[in-house]
Amino acid sequence: MSRKIAVFGTGYLGATHAACMAELGHDVLGVDVDEAKLGKLAAGELPFYEPGLPEVLRRNIENGRLRFTPSYQEAADFADVHFVAVGTPQKHGELAADLRYVDAVIESLAPLLSRPSVIFGKSTVPAGTAARLNGRVRELAPVRDQAELAWNPEFLREGFAVKDTLHPDRIVLGVDSARPGNAEAVARDVYAPQLEQNIPFLVTDLATAELVKTSANAFLATKISFINAIAEVCEATGADVSVLADAIGHDARIGRRFLNAGIGFGGGCLPKDIRAFIAMAGELGAGQAFALLREVDSINMRRRNKMVELAREAAGGSFIGARIAVLGAAFKPDSDDVRDSPALNIAGQIQLQGAAVSVYDPEAMQNARQLFPTLQYATDVCSACSGADVVMILTEWGQFTSLDPYELAKSVRQRTIIDGRNCLSPEGWRNAGWTYRGIGKP
Ligand code: NAD
Repeated sequence: MSRKIAVFGTGYLGATHAACMAELGHDVLGVDVDEAKLGKLAAGELPFYEPGLPEVLRRNIENGRLRFTPSYQEAADFADVHFVAVGTPQKHGELAADLRYVDAVIESLAPLLSRPSVIFGKSTVPAGTAARLNGRVRELAPVRDQAELAWNPEFLREGFAVKDTLHPDRIVLGVDSARPGNAEAVARDVYAPQLEQNIPFLVTDLATAELVKTSANAFLATKISFINAIAEVCEATGADVSVLADAIGHDARIGRRFLNAGIGFGGGCLPKDIRAFIAMAGELGAGQAFALLREVDSINMRRRNKMVELAREAAGGSFIGARIAVLGAAFKPDSDDVRDSPALNIAGQIQLQGAAVSVYDPEAMQNARQLFPTLQYATDVCSACSGADVVMILTEWGQFTSLDPYELAKSVRQRTIIDGRNCLSPEGWRNAGWTYRGIGKP
């Protein structure tokens, strides 16, 4: 059955969720406090890069199933199913998550709920948040117990957001076990097309649902830091971490995905989510989890410093007077997200130490410029690499992994390439006369 849905927060998660819910046949209203963003979305323009999403957005605006508004009142009048998709960034100067945006949605929306409604939280939050907010909803809503809050964590990956929303690996729903209410029935209605595809649907309590998301991110971060720790050992012994990862990855218990050694993880989720996990574990007195994730974080941050040192060595021992080309600014390919991007962090450090750094990214230039306005930005690969002493691949865009080493040699001053993502063929580049340096490789 088609439902009337409001989605609060129209960023990477919310805009995708709103457009995909309309794609499933629901009537959807996207709500945000950023009116410029709403204006763009309403005009069918996506304020960020996400392959396949602009088509879904435009199709559903045209067929009238998707609209946008800054008005909470309009959303409360229109919908009885509400999704919270606002940001939960790291608190300034602390490890914990900043829940002020999630709190603000509940404080503004709940007093407007004058008929039975379900609010589904999608943002990533520390365990205990949903129970607290559920209490607030019942306190503030004129319909009291007929307003419910459930937690429905989101697992989409930027770059695959549409596919992950329409065909997720699983749907997780946390409900108030003391008063389960209608949330499960409403979720079954909203996600009926997915449930028909036999996508696993796990219904649990609020804290478990919250923890599923943080644990999934903590595990992925741990896997990346594990292989990067192994890469450090490979570097010390002359072993090859890529061959090693292939070999251990054949073991189905281990699996090959997320085992690529490189400059580590970044983006708007993993770093802040593991830090929020550390803060939460500390508050709950679960010290062991605290120690493991701190180490995961520090192995990850160490990769960035290591990369700066590798570049310095490749530039002849000093950055002064050196030209460094940085290919990649987004935290991963097929995204324009530069939040906590290792590529930009490394580019910034190298420039601060005296090099002339030229950055190019196929999609993230505008966001990168905003975050690091003092870096120099090139219009394409060729101009970024013009006269370079060292070329660094820091985001594995297809455009970079398919570069022709003979062609690129015509632009640079010195044929030295650092493969920060182990995504190039060392032989191919060495055969073309380049000095190739990867991560955890001889
Ligand atoms: P984002 O910063 O891109 O978007 C957040 C949006 O919320 C912004 O547009 C902002 O203007 C809006 N907002 C802030 N306060 C508001 C309010 N009071 N009312 C309405 N809108 C408001 O963030 P994001 O990447 O979409 O992440 C959102 C949440 O989803 C976070 O908790 C994140 O951890 C989680 N998440 C993100 C992803 C992802 O790939 N980006 C994946 C899974 C989960």
